[in-house]
Amino acid sequence: MTRRVLTLFAHPDDAETMAGGALLKWARDGHEITLCLITDGEKGTSDPHDTPEAVIARRTAEQAHAAARLGAEVIRLGYEDGVLQPTIELRRDLVRVMRRVRPDIVVANDPTVWFRHDDYIMHPDHRAAGQAAVEALYPAVRKAGFFPELLAEGLAPHVVPEVWLGPAENPNLVLDIGDVFDDKIALICEHASQFPPEPTRRAFTRIAREAGEPLGIALAEPFRRLRLGASTIRCLASSAQVL
Ligand SMILES: [Zn+2]
Repeated sequence: MTRRVLTLFAHPDDAETMAGGALLKWARDGHEITLCLITDGEKGTSDPHDTPEAVIARRTAEQAHAAARLGAEVIRLGYEDGVLQPTIELRRDLVRVMRRVRPDIVVANDPTVWFRHDDYIMHPDHRAAGQAAVEALYPAVRKAGFFPELLAEGLAPHVVPEVWLGPAENPNLVLDIGDVFDDKIALICEHASQFPPEPTRRAFTRIAREAGEPLGIALAEPFRRLRLGASTIRCLASSAQVL
């Protein structure tokens, strides 16, 4: 059965760096992928002569090349890069995208992660995007009373049955990406203005090794996967031990 996968991330390249292996596997298996970019990543330059317009044009073209490798559609929300906040406006815009795409799986940042690998502070836009995504997933996307203007647009409530959040510090799903790892590097390197090939391969090899190490997997991506039901109380009851 073809499944619809929707990514909700702050910047061009976030979906590919965090979940490129998972996305390549879904694409290979014929599932439909939509990449939602909350910002266009216009602060992603160290050249003071770059204009935001020039950076957006460059990164949008790079994103199109990466999306083509996944057969994915791209949705751009046009928020300002670098100052993202988990506002009600952003929550509504993410609910709108989810009710339009009606995904079986949503992939987003884990908003609880502040640090990684003892040498990386999580970009605040990633946490803000992850928080907004989680807050849109529950309960707003599934309840008609939230954002009635979306009902007026013909966008009915939708229950997203599966959510993959990453990179997770305490993953409940460690995905073996060994079979698609070279393709993941090529996918990331489509964002050529951000990722020079050699350091990118070294960095992502290290990240994938560290993720897989506890389970003896050579190369992996770490996720917290949530399975959500239409009824939260039935969902909780079905997995409970009866004492
Ligand atoms: Zn980013």
